[in-house]
Amino acid sequence: MAAAAVGLIAKACVGWMGRAAVWRSGGAGLHCCRALSSGAPHPHHDGAATLVQGPLQSLNEEEAMMRDAVAKFARDKLAPIVAEMDRASVMHQGVIDGLFEQGLMGIEIDVALGGAGSTFFASVLAVEELARVDPSVAVLCDIQNTLINTMVRKLGTAEQQGHYLPRLASDTVGSFCLSEEGSGSDAFAMKMRAEKRGDHFLLNGTKMWISNAEHAGVFLVMANAAPERGYKGITCFVVERDTPGLQVGKKEDKLGIRASSTCPVHFENVKVPLSAVLGQEGHGYKYAIGMLNEGRIGIAAQMVGLSQGCFDHAVAYTKQRKQFGQRIYDFQGMQHQIAHVATQIEAARLLTYNAARLREAGLPFLTQACMAKYFTSEVASLTTSKCMEWMGGVGFTTSYPIEKYYRDCKVGTIYEGTSNIQLSTIAKFMDQ
Ligand SMILES: Cc1cc2nc3c(=O)[nH]c(=O)nc-3n(C[C@H](O)[C@H](O)[C@H](O)COP(=O)(O)OP(=O)(O)OC[C@H]3O[C@@H](n4cnc5c(N)ncnc54)[C@H](O)[C@@H]3O)c2cc1C
Repeated sequence: MAAAAVGLIAKACVGWMGRAAVWRSGGAGLHCCRALSSGAPHPHHDGAATLVQGPLQSLNEEEAMMRDAVAKFARDKLAPIVAEMDRASVMHQGVIDGLFEQGLMGIEIDVALGGAGSTFFASVLAVEELARVDPSVAVLCDIQNTLINTMVRKLGTAEQQGHYLPRLASDTVGSFCLSEEGSGSDAFAMKMRAEKRGDHFLLNGTKMWISNAEHAGVFLVMANAAPERGYKGITCFVVERDTPGLQVGKKEDKLGIRASSTCPVHFENVKVPLSAVLGQEGHGYKYAIGMLNEGRIGIAAQMVGLSQGCFDHAVAYTKQRKQFGQRIYDFQGMQHQIAHVATQIEAARLLTYNAARLREAGLPFLTQACMAKYFTSEVASLTTSKCMEWMGGVGFTTSYPIEKYYRDCKVGTIYEGTSNIQLSTIAKFMDQ
């Protein structure tokens, strides 16, 4: 086991769980937990139904310990440098190293492969806690866990899993390459091609908007290997950063999540072996759709955390700031607004946790994932806007973190499917 990579989560969990896989009945009902010193497969990972009873926000001991530990990491290691990373538009390598050391980049990866052997719900909690302090760091952790690791875990051959998962858990950032200049919402209109030439493929094209590309060591790339079959030619490839012909372009200068790099990635006659195909040839469109459903829950968690972080700062201010001889919190006009936003955040969190619990239980969750992503990004926009108003003039300055949350939240309505696309998908499911 790569002890360093298991880090925080392992330390938090091994302490109380002992050595074998255990079922335990916690405050929230029946949850499956797993001793991190055991390499035994998780009995309810990836599809089998697990009933979770009790209030959605009740966490079992493993989840609570993980949430608290990530919150401490965010408070101690991220909070002091958030503003500077945002200003410089840079993610410190030390932050990335810290995420790996804490086991936060391989949350669901098996212990035997160097991961934390934990759950999807734990990933959601980690993303939420990181986003309270820095949504840029949260999206790094989110994409790694909910998209990259999940795809390799679910689709990879034993050889691919053995090769990539230990790296993804310990030191290698992954990027998900679907979007192109001409294909965003209509992702399958992609132009990128993969041409089979005997024992290898040649990849040609340019991907756009690729998160974390600046630091990525491995790229999951969708390219069409059989354009005559339309979108059914789309195939997923695992491509190493140092493959000749792959070039990461200049990062975008963005409104928000500025510390998270977003870059074009160019592929010019990039030669990859047949063994670089992830899953089956021609099934890339299914994988992309399928994985983004889980990814959307991660983005929802990012939006919930962001909203909570912003809200906590602003409400604390309203309890300290005085006007007309009293705390501004004491004005009923303020209290009604604060209570309204608190209710919206609560609802956003419940939608997100419900989607995550459904996914973890192997129950249908696609509509709920779209609803969670759509609603939480709306709530984040409302929350950050209201918080800025509650802070008065200082909220509009960089002396307080509110303006950063205000900028960071907007992307929630855009990436991993715009709000319109979420609504269209929800409506489509309602019509089936
Ligand atoms: C910061 C950031 C990070 C990103 N990270 C990644 C990444 O890591 N990997 C990756 O592959 N992509 C990534 N993306 C791309 C992202 O997923 C796309 O930007 C998104 O899917 C929207 O595509 P588009 O920008 O081309 O907008 P368009 O598809 O052109 O949409 C423009 C507008 O038209 C609307 N619209 C389009 N089609 C319809 C329709 N059928 N019905 C109603 N309205 C419609 C949209 O809702 C939107 O309002 C990222 C984007 C950003 C901004």
